[in-house]
Amino acid sequence: MASSNPYDHRSHDYRLLVKRWKAFCKDAKLKLQPFACSAEEHIYFIETARELAAQGEPWIYISAGVHGDESAPPWGLLEWAEAHVDLLRRHPFLIFPVLNPTGLILNTRADYAGMDLNRNFNHPSEPVVASWRKVIKGRKLAIGLCLHEDYDGQGCYLYELNGSKHILGERILADTSVLIPKDCRKRIDGRAAKAGLIRRKVIPEMTGQPEAIVLHLHGAPITLTFESPSEFCIVERIAVQKRFIESSLKHALGLT
Ligand SMILES: [Zn+2]
Repeated sequence: MASSNPYDHRSHDYRLLVKRWKAFCKDAKLKLQPFACSAEEHIYFIETARELAAQGEPWIYISAGVHGDESAPPWGLLEWAEAHVDLLRRHPFLIFPVLNPTGLILNTRADYAGMDLNRNFNHPSEPVVASWRKVIKGRKLAIGLCLHEDYDGQGCYLYELNGSKHILGERILADTSVLIPKDCRKRIDGRAAKAGLIRRKVIPEMTGQPEAIVLHLHGAPITLTFESPSEFCIVERIAVQKRFIESSLKHALGLT
C-alpha cells in the first residue's frame, strides 16, 4: 500500500511500481506483458478477460504515465486495479500502467530522449508508438481513459470527446470533487472550460496527435482525459485518479 505520509511516497520509482504490478498480476493470475522499451526500461500492458473480447465485448482502455512529471496517475491506476480484481475478471480491460517510464524516473514530461509521447501517437516512426499501435490494432474499444496531471491545475478537470448527447463529465467531476475540487478557470490550456469540463465535439487540428484523439480515430466512442493538479498532495492526487476511473466506468458503462 502507498504510505499515508506524502513525504514518504516514492512516486517516481518505476521499478517499485513494476514490482507492485508484478505482485498484483501474480495474485490476480494476470500477465504483465512487455511490448516496448524506452532506454533500458520495459514498457508493459495487461489484458484481462480475453475470452469475453473474443466473443465481441469491447475493450476498456486505461493508460497512465504518458507524461513523466505527472506521477499520481500510475499509482492511482495501480490502486484502482488492486481494489477491483473481480471487475477486471468480468470485462476485457486493456491497461497500460506507464507509457513513458524514463520520463517518470527523470520527472520530465518527455521521455529520456526529449520526445513528448502525447504529441506523437499518430507518428508510427516513434518505436514506442509503433509497438503501442500493434497492441491496440484490431481491438474494438468501449472507452478510452487517459490519466494525466497539470502543474498549472487549480483543481481537477476533464477533456471529454464523446459523440453521444449524454455528457458524462459533470457527473464524473461531481464524484472527483469530493476529493479535490474542480478547476473552475474559464479557459484551461487555451480552451474554453465550464466547471472543469472541456468538451471536444470536433477533432482539433494538430500535427502531433495525443493519445485520446488517436483512440477516438481508432473507434473509441468516448475518450476521457482526466487532469489532477500536480502541485497538490500526492496522496490526494492518487485517490482522485482512482476515483476518476471508478466514476467513469460507472457513468459511462454502468460498471461498479
Ligand atoms: Zn499529461
